[in-house]
Amino acid sequence: AFASFDYDLAVVGGGPGGYVAAIKAAQLGLKTACIEKRGTLGGTCLNVGCIPAKALLNSSHKYYEAQKHFKDHGILFDSLKVDFGQMMKSKEQAVSGLTRGIEALFKKNSVTYLKGAGAFQDPNTLTIDNANPIRAKNILIATGSEPSQVPGGILPIDEKRVLSNTGAMALKEIPKRMVVIGAGVIGLELGSVYSRLGTEVIVVEYLNRLAPALDLEVAQSLQKILVKQGIKFHLGAKVVGGEAKDDSVHVKIEPASPDSKNVPDSIDCDYVLVAVGRKPYTQGLHLDFIDVSRDKQGRVNVNDHLQTLRHAHIYAIGDTIRGPMLAHKAEEEGVFVAEHIAGQGGHINYDAIPGVVYTHPEVAQVGKTEEELKASNVPYNKGTFPFIANSRARANQEMEGFVKALAHKETNQLLGLHIIGPDAGEIIMEGVVGIEYGAAAEDIARTCHGHPGFSEAIKEACLATFSKTINF
Ligand code: FAD
Repeated sequence: AFASFDYDLAVVGGGPGGYVAAIKAAQLGLKTACIEKRGTLGGTCLNVGCIPAKALLNSSHKYYEAQKHFKDHGILFDSLKVDFGQMMKSKEQAVSGLTRGIEALFKKNSVTYLKGAGAFQDPNTLTIDNANPIRAKNILIATGSEPSQVPGGILPIDEKRVLSNTGAMALKEIPKRMVVIGAGVIGLELGSVYSRLGTEVIVVEYLNRLAPALDLEVAQSLQKILVKQGIKFHLGAKVVGGEAKDDSVHVKIEPASPDSKNVPDSIDCDYVLVAVGRKPYTQGLHLDFIDVSRDKQGRVNVNDHLQTLRHAHIYAIGDTIRGPMLAHKAEEEGVFVAEHIAGQGGHINYDAIPGVVYTHPEVAQVGKTEEELKASNVPYNKGTFPFIANSRARANQEMEGFVKALAHKETNQLLGLHIIGPDAGEIIMEGVVGIEYGAAAEDIARTCHGHPGFSEAIKEACLATFSKTINF
């Protein structure tokens, strides 16, 4: 019948964007379904991204600490070895517990979970695995992203010897030598995991710096620390060819610019990790059929309300649209869409989205980098404070890194906070809340911080934007 719908909202994709949107929509009284083809909920993040990566980073860090640093704390033992199978099992337990947890949350909130691949039959109708059409008043595209390949058909991912994040977190053995193509967050995190477990890790990066989203000074500091941990870097180096055999991979490299130094012609290794970025995944949705446009990079075009340009009732979020490819960004957008459909305001502040690299030490940032402020001619003051002068860091013997606060020169408004150091990914939240509330750096500097705490380094860096540090 005319205007009869099975659902108020159908979400395609059960990742952090889609599942959060579905729960929020149901809580706001919308009849909601979530379609997911993977077999488990949680998307890239829970299944093959954030969570398994963090599990392996934590496990490998414990091993690395035991091997390198326990003796500094007076803890000695006779022998130490890795049970890689158990380490992988522990990661899988974390993943399966969390993905099953979302199923339980769907039940609790009365979200209908439809298993299969969703595709548009018309702007209000979706088929599930090419059958069982459902009609929905609103539809949310939350189908996420997939790994990009090395351009030029070089070393296509086979998940045997040439791995994406998925294959790299499902290995049966610890590689002897791994070439990581791309020094972005994913390459650095997974490179760290295997380096700590004894793999010779060689990172090849086209740019002459690592992690281009990070503040340059922080990225350079991170590079020095990772080199000390044993990771090798060839920056300004381009992978120009390669061949994967049954048990080895040959990688051909050239300097990316005349300034590039010490770039070898080739490297032989037993595994390659391709970590050259990710691209939106909207295959099989039949978006062209219903006139949902994408930009050159394949991202679904949306307006400020996250509505697709041709159909106001079709929304898109997360890795399928512009902006940082981060789980928490997808979640905020999911909540925004649910609230918008329910007739509420909705809120996302794209200037207050934290970014964290879970290396050791961690790197975290929010707001603008120094390079961005310079490029946009914003006058700023910079305050820094090193963890070597922080009492908690000294007590824990975790003194690498620093905090850098960037504040507007005239108003002292906090514009950016950059941390490399212990628990950076947690303590960054002080800066995120500060920026969200339009705080001045002085507001943070005058806020009482628990002693001894890593976050006292933030207080001091903020103090340094308008006055002098006390402890350095
Ligand atoms: P996704 O999580 O990709 O979910 C999309 C889902 O849609 C998938 O499950 C897919 O199966 C499903 N789908 C696709 N097409 C269809 C269809 N037609 N029908 C039905 N279902 C479909 N981000 C962070 O914030 N912190 C981190 O620490 C972090 N670590 C990462 C580590 C790695 C190794 C990787 C690869 C990524 C990491 N990310 C991290 C990024 C994060 O995983 C993504 O930004 C996030 O998952 C995006 O969420 P999403 O909901 O947009 O899409």
